[in-house]
Amino acid sequence: MGEGLYLTDAYLKECRAQVRRSGSDGVYLDSTVFYPAGGGQPSDSGELRAADGRHWVVTGAAKGAEGILHNLESGEPPEPGLTVQAVLDWPRRYSNMRHHTALHILSGVVFRRFGSGITGGQIYADRARMDFDLPEFTPGLASELVAEMNAVVRRALPVHVRFISRREFESDPSFVRVARNLMPEVEEVRLIDIEGFDVQADGGTHVRSTSEVGEVALGRIENKGARNKRLYLTLGPPTEAASSALSG
Ligand SMILES: [Zn+2]
Repeated sequence: MGEGLYLTDAYLKECRAQVRRSGSDGVYLDSTVFYPAGGGQPSDSGELRAADGRHWVVTGAAKGAEGILHNLESGEPPEPGLTVQAVLDWPRRYSNMRHHTALHILSGVVFRRFGSGITGGQIYADRARMDFDLPEFTPGLASELVAEMNAVVRRALPVHVRFISRREFESDPSFVRVARNLMPEVEEVRLIDIEGFDVQADGGTHVRSTSEVGEVALGRIENKGARNKRLYLTLGPPTEAASSALSG
């Protein structure tokens, strides 16, 4: 109950929903397009709109005890039973989708080259960050990684969401790399599959083609210790495919 619609369709910008519970901590809906923060991807923001003209600003969302909790600006929350339209701040979400997919591409590039070495990642409004455990990490290497990322962007590879059983997942040795962060109680595994390039178990939202990521540029590189390097990426303006997704 209350599972996010973004799990199967990241391009849904709004949905009709009924308020299940509301209180000072926020609102639970029977259905939602809002992504709760997690996996390095920030939560969505947006609005709840009622037919009588009232509306509530959603400042963020989080995983709560009863599903996805929508945090609202202070004021009288909508009453349980009320039907609302849950509407995303789509430019913000779409930016998160592009940056998130960029991190998958970088992860695939690094995996192909080094076999491992990624320790974390984070998405921001205007950039994304990845952390590495690689002994040698020079500006030259960072530039090469970004050039390889742009080659993947230009190939316009389809990005699929797939669900497989945990048993199927664990019986395939090629998934060993992605099993690391898997929750022990999960029965079904959600996979993000960049066709022919990279597969990861993941709960976030992504674009449907690597081309929508657009041109990737290298940002700052930080040396946080012998085995802790940090790289920032920025993305160019949305491509034509991205622009149509934005307006569509
Ligand atoms: Zn992801």
